[in-house]
Amino acid sequence: MSLIVQKFGGTSVGSIERIEQIADKIAGFRDRGHDIVVVVSAMSGETNRLIALAHEIQDQPVPREMDVLVSTGEQVTTALLSMALAKRSVRAKSYNGSQVRILTDDSHTKARIREIDDQRMQADIADGFVLVVAGFQGVDENGNITTLGRGGSDTTAVALAAALKAQECQIYTDVDGVYTTDPRMVDGARRLSKVTFEEMLEMASMGSKVLQIRAVEFAGKYNVPLRVLHSFEEGPGTLITMEDKVDVETPTIAGIAFNRDEAKLTILGVPDMPGVAHKILGPIGESNIEVDVIVQNVADDKTTDFTFTVGRHDLLSAEEVLNRVCSELNAREVRSDNKIAKVSVVGVGMRSHAGVASQMFAALAEVGINIQMITTSEIKISVIIEEKFLELAVRSLHSSFGLEKEPENECAD
Ligand code: ADP
Ligand code: ASP
Ligand code: MG
Repeated sequence: MSLIVQKFGGTSVGSIERIEQIADKIAGFRDRGHDIVVVVSAMSGETNRLIALAHEIQDQPVPREMDVLVSTGEQVTTALLSMALAKRSVRAKSYNGSQVRILTDDSHTKARIREIDDQRMQADIADGFVLVVAGFQGVDENGNITTLGRGGSDTTAVALAAALKAQECQIYTDVDGVYTTDPRMVDGARRLSKVTFEEMLEMASMGSKVLQIRAVEFAGKYNVPLRVLHSFEEGPGTLITMEDKVDVETPTIAGIAFNRDEAKLTILGVPDMPGVAHKILGPIGESNIEVDVIVQNVADDKTTDFTFTVGRHDLLSAEEVLNRVCSELNAREVRSDNKIAKVSVVGVGMRSHAGVASQMFAALAEVGINIQMITTSEIKISVIIEEKFLELAVRSLHSSFGLEKEPENECAD
């Protein structure tokens, strides 16, 4: 019998009615002879509600306690779904992260999975149980509850699929696949029948929250076949493929990603000398803050300005660190701006097509959008712009790259 890992996101388990529908679906797969391990998120809105409660008490809640708090959401849905399965005479067992033993490092609120003990699960699967595992959570080696970052249930699912050598990992959500851009922002967005791991990785890391980036990383590393599907509508969804062949038929751009969750920090008047970038970014890294786009201006008068972006939730801590660095380096001042957004065009076809950057900049110029920072890789170009222009930018780029149209080489599913 083939083993499938199925993950259901927040809206898919957002009410008792939906949980019952999901239970029907899982029972159907069971009847067709599949072994199933289910991963669930918290009911939609629950994680946000819990985070807001914490913020009523502390601006920067204690990370260990934050994990104890937010991990409760997923425990609720594992129990409810297991009950709904039992009602359908499907033998099911719920598990939280520490019961499985999803071992992570100890970086609370953004922990990474180190190891998964599959013994208990394998024994239950062999006994005919459907397992319902809490997404998003794990345990460190000292027994502390950890969580994997927002959207982390995707990663739990892929990691379990890798550990159990599942035939496929299916991510069920509220859209019927991966689109050329967020279909909630652009009406003309088109579902991709397949997308390469590389493209998906870039799209996820550039802000397309349909899959958490670490889930895509895991799938690539352990070769897990991954598919995104709609929870309540039938359809082929989107297959994430390992293909890396780029030929004349490969569309230049697969999609457009955007991210509102970044903030920009600038340290002005830094003495221009060797080692300065390290002196600025070293302490930021030591505080476990991830830096994204970096720009250093040409030195003027023996000083330079240094700008970089961080996740918006890290802005307060990054500012604190940078103010300290500012006085240590005798720099002039620190400025911050959280009204920025990042827009990226992504596609493996860029490797064999020149002129993508100039087309992107022209499309933005045409609608009067100023570019504040630029960063590129082999298969993506990202720009930082003022947040208020985000929708305009995404729509203009989507149409400039002709993404609404079905590419000639792509056949129907
Ligand atoms: P879940 O709760 O099921 O994990 P998420 O809200 O995390 O669902 O992810 C699904 C959402 O991702 C969609 O509702 C859609 O708005 C958004 N999204 C962003 N970019 C894309 C994209 N390129 N394709 C599909 N959905 C996208
Ligand atoms: N419930 C968590 C979140 O909202 C994890 C997930 O849904 O994947 O981020
Ligand atoms: Mg999600």
